[in-house]
Amino acid sequence: MNRSFQSERDGMVERQLVARGIRDPHVLRAMRTVPRERFVDERMAPFAYDDSPLPIEAEQTISQPFMVAWMMEAAEVAPGDHVLEVGAGSGYASAVLAQVAATVHAIERHDLLTRVARERLDALAYTNIHLRTGDGTLGWPEAGPFDAILVAAAGPEVPAPLKEQLRLGGRLLMPLDIGGQGTQRLLKVVRHTPEDYEQQTLGSVAFVPLIGQHGWAEDEERAGVPASRF
Ligand code: SAM
Repeated sequence: MNRSFQSERDGMVERQLVARGIRDPHVLRAMRTVPRERFVDERMAPFAYDDSPLPIEAEQTISQPFMVAWMMEAAEVAPGDHVLEVGAGSGYASAVLAQVAATVHAIERHDLLTRVARERLDALAYTNIHLRTGDGTLGWPEAGPFDAILVAAAGPEVPAPLKEQLRLGGRLLMPLDIGGQGTQRLLKVVRHTPEDYEQQTLGSVAFVPLIGQHGWAEDEERAGVPASRF
């Protein structure tokens, strides 16, 4: 796969991000830089700049480019930030975050995905991403507190350990399942004081389930989650 995807990447940024209101120059630069085709199976590479999530190993998905950009902009990720990502999947969003943040700690529950993501990130020479397999609903307490926490899977509530690992002034972005029936809203939480968290709903989304101690139990994972989920 020697072909350069730069023109597809630039087109994706203009048509899918700028046209939909993404303005943060750090986010746009990062999205113009990270080769999404390197985070999917070679057979999926021709579709890497489609406006959609794509299937990856372990029946999971690489997030839609717009979703990565939207969450990162809403999380106000800035140079020097320490970021936690829950649900590393392919490693793509970790790479985008690592273009701007000082460090990214990323947790993925499927060890297969962690191993494949690590290979991809090593091949692209990322040195500021720390990746591990585990239950991301518990966060990464030894590495916190974090300026921003991005959760890429939908749970019933914001996991308490993640709220605790947010720095004062820190921002957490997460899709929340509300009222059953698969309805999800993207939630932004800002920690103002140790006890005072402000919550804001940003819009409707469709993510795979967050499975873990502070998410859904494994047997609650609903059968037949559409592959179109972010
Ligand atoms: N942002 C990723 C990317 O760019 O490839 C896509 C993430 S995918 C939509 C969501 C991921 O969350 C899946 O890989 C899933 O295995 C993972 N996940 C679900 N529950 C988790 C948990 N408790 N801890 C860590 N990862 C979890």
